[in-house]
Amino acid sequence: MLDINNLSVDFHTDGGVVHAVKNVSLSVGEGEIRGLVGESGSGKSVTSMTILGLLGTRRAKISSGEILLNGTNLLELSQKELVKIRGREIGLVSQNALSALDPSFTVGAQMVEVIRLHQKLSKADAYKEAVRSLELVAMPDPEQKLRAYQHQLSGGQRQRVVIAMALAARPRLLLADEPTTALDATVQKQILDLLLEINKELGTAILMVTHDFGVVSHMCDTVTVMRQGSIVEQGTAHQVLSAPEHPYTRSLISSVPKLHLDDSARTVPRGQRRLNVFQEA
Ligand code: ADP
Ligand code: MG
Repeated sequence: MLDINNLSVDFHTDGGVVHAVKNVSLSVGEGEIRGLVGESGSGKSVTSMTILGLLGTRRAKISSGEILLNGTNLLELSQKELVKIRGREIGLVSQNALSALDPSFTVGAQMVEVIRLHQKLSKADAYKEAVRSLELVAMPDPEQKLRAYQHQLSGGQRQRVVIAMALAARPRLLLADEPTTALDATVQKQILDLLLEINKELGTAILMVTHDFGVVSHMCDTVTVMRQGSIVEQGTAHQVLSAPEHPYTRSLISSVPKLHLDDSARTVPRGQRRLNVFQEA
């Protein structure tokens, strides 16, 4: 579904050229959850923002590569064409739910607006769709939440709203950039489990940007490891977790406390099961 080939992105700053992404190639298949992992500054967010044409600065230059979505090179589309792809075919779940929501409008007003951007619905029907979307993300008392402002919601509830908005047009692919980093551990796990559930129920593929191999172990089928703008290794989550080839990958894995005690047992059958599914396809 998504194929990134030899992508390079540079920033032309006053201090010189920063090669933020160097020759990155990765793919996400239908229904696949791929982790994109690396320390802060390794180029994960720049890679995922480039997919949506959201680099947002004229200093950024894509110096090589292509990003194919079902065969269409997104880098050759106009901003107008990209706007249609954003939300409708690729949903974005950003790092910071607070910045994704507008404090001066109710949750309902924002959700209705997003839903009507993608679907020709009356306000009343869009409202019903907003209720359905909040039910999809297991939000307690959706109607009351639609009347609320973001400051009246907890961090986890806000992130559920952001996920519901990203799913409003039922995109086939979600880009989730560290969607749980700002949340405490219990809520983190709830949101990861919610994304897993959505993947299972709707078949939504996910590019899961994270610095945390615990997240990979918990939910990813495949993983790409980035360091200083380059890919150091990639493979199935099971392969990379059980036999990491690069010392950098090994250090990222060993920095997750209790990973092998808690999660690796679950990753093995899941990884193998998914691998079989892909081989049959
Ligand atoms: P990650 O998401 O892996 O933490 P990023 O993709 O945000 O890392 O950043 C990769 C590199 O690109 C970093 O060296 C960062 O400083 C640089 N970078 C990101 N955005 C800009 C920008 N707007 N201008 C200059 N450099 C940038
Ligand atoms: Mg980032």
